[in-house]
Amino acid sequence: MSTITVDLAHTLVVREVFGPTVQGEGPSTGRRCGFIRLGGCNLSCTWCDTPETWDASRYDLRATLNRRTVEDIVTRAMEGMPSLVVITGGEPLLHQQQDGWNSLLSTLAASGAEIEVETNGTIAPSPFTAARVTRFNCSPKLAHAGDPENKRINGKALAVLRWTGRVAFKFVCTDPADLEEVHRFVQDHNIPEHLVWIMPEGTSAPDLADSLQLLAEPAIAAGYNLTQRLHIALWGTEKGR
Ligand code: SF4
Repeated sequence: MSTITVDLAHTLVVREVFGPTVQGEGPSTGRRCGFIRLGGCNLSCTWCDTPETWDASRYDLRATLNRRTVEDIVTRAMEGMPSLVVITGGEPLLHQQQDGWNSLLSTLAASGAEIEVETNGTIAPSPFTAARVTRFNCSPKLAHAGDPENKRINGKALAVLRWTGRVAFKFVCTDPADLEEVHRFVQDHNIPEHLVWIMPEGTSAPDLADSLQLLAEPAIAAGYNLTQRLHIALWGTEKGR
């Protein structure tokens, strides 16, 4: 059995660490929290709002990403003593094989903070990860994201996420027709409706409000939850909020 070494000098590749702010999406919307945004993603969604974490064709990733120590990351994320820390990306579960990931989760868990990990659902959490994360906010990508189906859907990873018993599924929808694809997805992967959050796509408060208005009635009728993007309503696309 391998031994986990907690070393605050371990490092991870990070885009930004910020807070205190609020969780803008999903079941914890409105909760005060710190945010850790890690670099790298295994998908390339056309409407991605954080391409600077992975898209080397458009960004100089040596400038947008930095390798930082776990001590530095945790100290910054815990500024203001939030009771929740959100680890996002990119795709944060890409970092699971790194010593820095183990040290980060161990240190945050020891601090008493709850931990949410935002994932696209294509990578299974390890037992080590699953034991320390309070909730996975899993956002599987629909066809409109532009990724090939065999890249954006991994049934085994989704099954492991379901098995943790601590997962919410968040689907970005551009219009009500997308709900048909959500219905097929949740049936194919045996996802209970009450674990599903429908979220409008958009990067301005008026667009999000209009889109949510269209999605609300059919989503509620289908047994799903709704989420806005609170950080967009408050701060638009300003980074680090
Ligand atoms: Fe962007 Fe998320 Fe898609 Fe990765 S999975 S490309 S971070 S929207």
